[in-house]
Amino acid sequence: VIQIKPTIEYQSLCPYCSEPLQPLSLLWQGIHVCSESKCVGCEANIVVDLPTGHALYWPYQADVQKKALFGDDAARSWFGDPLLASLLKPLEDPVRLEVEKFAEVKKALILNCLDSWYGHALLKLLNAESDALNNPQASVVVIIPKALRWLVPKGVAEIWTVDLPLAKTNYFYKDLNRKIQHECERFDRIFLSTVFPHPRDFDISRFTRVPRHDFSRGTFRVTFVWREDRLWITSYGMKGRRSSPLGDLLLRWQNAKVRLLFRQIRKQVPHAVFTVAGLGTSTQFPSWIHDCRLSDFSDQTEREICEIYSESRLVIGIHGSNMLLPSAHAGHAIDLIPQGHWGNFAQDVIYQESDPRLAAFRYRYLPANMGLRSLSDIAVGMIGDYPYYQRQMMNEVH
Ligand SMILES: [Zn+2]
Repeated sequence: VIQIKPTIEYQSLCPYCSEPLQPLSLLWQGIHVCSESKCVGCEANIVVDLPTGHALYWPYQADVQKKALFGDDAARSWFGDPLLASLLKPLEDPVRLEVEKFAEVKKALILNCLDSWYGHALLKLLNAESDALNNPQASVVVIIPKALRWLVPKGVAEIWTVDLPLAKTNYFYKDLNRKIQHECERFDRIFLSTVFPHPRDFDISRFTRVPRHDFSRGTFRVTFVWREDRLWITSYGMKGRRSSPLGDLLLRWQNAKVRLLFRQIRKQVPHAVFTVAGLGTSTQFPSWIHDCRLSDFSDQTEREICEIYSESRLVIGIHGSNMLLPSAHAGHAIDLIPQGHWGNFAQDVIYQESDPRLAAFRYRYLPANMGLRSLSDIAVGMIGDYPYYQRQMMNEVH
């Protein structure tokens, strides 16, 4: 947490001469919160990433006049270069900023959730709970893209909803910068939330208003999380291509795999309600599979689909941000990892389990090309063995 008003309390050094950079003013780029700074030595004007979100790990500095970017190579392509590109081409389009006030406050802690990736934006928002608990002296103000407004929890002081599609938050809109600056004038002191990209210690039901899975329920679902832009096939790289003969074939293949897997699991768990949920409605399922897929999401259907996940003893799906809300609400999750994605381990699963042994049981990562019989064995074991496993691990004696 750093102060950004009345003064920007952040020290950084000039990329040219290593003299201190003097922070002059704030710049709300969108994803990045920056200070426009001047070098006390060589007088270079540098835009400096403030430490929030992914800039905690990969802070960049930009010299707009010289079109130069300074920072780690590791995140340059997806985090640094778009920052410089956006500053070189500021957009003049108006951006609607809807301001909702729930409390009158003079000290604010701003949590900026803007991000062009859905998963990033959602994970950023999950910092709101610890922000509110750990910083009682300042009230939380959330900056949120419109698509995620429904997830902002109760208890924040203000919500500033940015009416932009996620992908466009990569650009620098001068109007949005002006509007956020204008709102900031109302406060005496402002701090910038740290916004960990992968927060922990939160209760998802505070955000979705949907309870987490109840293991004591008698009837439950086993749910496959469907998506059509990244398919459940052996190797990564073959993306779903809708409306092409190959795309149709791959979708039918995915459909057949889901049916075969469910048929295997059903032999051992006949009373489960087998369900497909997620985005995309291509292909058809037989009537014993409950089809809850959607062609697009609204706030209402997003919440309804979380109810489906909450009713699921087990969710299974291909690795990606599509697994965040399913894993957060379900009893167990199997994350099918395509080749080349093992480095992103656990980034798409929201752990709602504090005991590491129970977490190891409840959330599993398996190769996407694993055989259906092995996969079914593991799934059946997770469903059937958990009550006994949990009792032993909780040291309960009956
Ligand atoms: Zn300098």
